[in-house]
Amino acid sequence: MFVDDLVIRGGLVVDGTGAAGREAAVFVRDGRITAVESGSARPARRAIDARGQIVAPGFIDIHTHSDFTLPLNPRAEGKIRQGVTTEVVGNCGFSAAPALPGTAAMLREYLAASAPWLPFADTTFAEYMDALPPVSVNTIMQVGHHTLRLMTVGMEPRPATTDELSHMERLLEEALEAGALGLSSGLFTAPGCYANADEIHALARVLARRGGQYASHIRDEANRVREAVREAIAVAEATGVHVQIAHLKLSGTDNWGGAADLLGEIAAVRARGIPVDCDQYPYDTATNPLRNLLPTWIQDGGVPAMLERLGTRDLRRRLRGDITRNGLNNFGAISSWDAVRVAVSPHLPDEAGMSMGEIARRRGIDPLDAVCDFLIEDRGHTRILVTSMSEADVDEITRAPWVLVGSDANALAPEGVTGQGKPHPRSYGTFARVLGRAVRERRLLTLPQAVFKMTGGSAAALGLTDRGVLKTDAWADITVFDPQAIAERATYDDPHRYATGVSTVIVNGTVVIDGGDHTGAVPGRVLRFQRSVRR
Ligand SMILES: [Zn+2]
Repeated sequence: MFVDDLVIRGGLVVDGTGAAGREAAVFVRDGRITAVESGSARPARRAIDARGQIVAPGFIDIHTHSDFTLPLNPRAEGKIRQGVTTEVVGNCGFSAAPALPGTAAMLREYLAASAPWLPFADTTFAEYMDALPPVSVNTIMQVGHHTLRLMTVGMEPRPATTDELSHMERLLEEALEAGALGLSSGLFTAPGCYANADEIHALARVLARRGGQYASHIRDEANRVREAVREAIAVAEATGVHVQIAHLKLSGTDNWGGAADLLGEIAAVRARGIPVDCDQYPYDTATNPLRNLLPTWIQDGGVPAMLERLGTRDLRRRLRGDITRNGLNNFGAISSWDAVRVAVSPHLPDEAGMSMGEIARRRGIDPLDAVCDFLIEDRGHTRILVTSMSEADVDEITRAPWVLVGSDANALAPEGVTGQGKPHPRSYGTFARVLGRAVRERRLLTLPQAVFKMTGGSAAALGLTDRGVLKTDAWADITVFDPQAIAERATYDDPHRYATGVSTVIVNGTVVIDGGDHTGAVPGRVLRFQRSVRR
């Protein structure tokens, strides 16, 4: 008879299906769950005492950008200490591969405001997937539409030609063949925004043929959010491809109060059986490269062209007119430039944490001039935080039991290269904030509902059948936490702080967080999607 590697005893098992918790022991052997049993006294090589705690499936962070930090922070500290065991990367149209021969420098420049410290190399998508070093979490990879466009059309503001489109389709096929989940897009900014619906539908037909999925940072999250949501839904309706609407929100003061209506529209589409899911990070503040707040035409031709343009008086006049009329690109109207603060500015590191309003007042100049000057001085690499949502809308979306949890953030650590600047606290806090603030303090959700939004619900959206639920034969990704203690500690002023309340995290049967400490183990796998081609 086999003896199990370990058993977690005495905790309340919240299995990830949304069902209420029950007292049971969870047994693990050779990376898999062998049993979830009540009243079992069966021995195992190691017993973990979970009395007073919740035993849940490891959390699936369905929308992240940890591809930009995992090679630098393979222990995935900020995430795994919240209980995250799987990260979906390559989102919002951004991926570090493929990089065709001679394009690595261009890609590095393009992604500098998101991945300032990542080394880039010419690589196929398959080589890229193979090159990820061993890390503590599982990863699911997507290829980015921005990246495909950079490889074929560059930063030119126009539709792709037939040849360019078939080149993009070929690159997408290669990524899917290598085991990528699917395609992500970021239609709100350049160069993805230059694609029309036909281009996206053509790529989605490749996904349909090969069983891939589509995740979208939609074309606009502010004044045209309804149209943008419908554009994403139309992809699912036309092709049958699963569509993941990223970080659902209503940005811009003019759009506040619209969450219930927007959720109602998406829920009605889901009720018709259209394969659409959404995710959300539970904060009223977003983060993005500063340049993406400006009208998209500012980036035509790429970063160097933008920096040159930003210095001219005429352009600033046009910029001011555009922003006065339409608000900020993707973010709409803000209360003032004090709502925009510097998160990470590689060439002006001392300015992190300061708002654009403050910087303008200190310099004695107009805020928009301060924005333009700052972009030039930081070579376009500045990343900002923008408080653009209402708390009521954020809570309304959090409350929806079918909206999944995704941090939209990188795995960071206070020590080392990723500990720089003042990034969004969601990197360290998203999951702890949902379980602490939304469940325990505000009672927006029950605990089993919240756990479902970060485990079983996400697994179903991704088509994973052997993760996200605690059941016999599933992979042993397990998180044990104290429901009374779990809390985020990261703040906007002091973001590099780990969440508390998670005692044990197991990935593929290996203990990574043990008694609240990282063991140094890196048992994560790249989860490859293998599928038969539909002809
Ligand atoms: Zn995004």
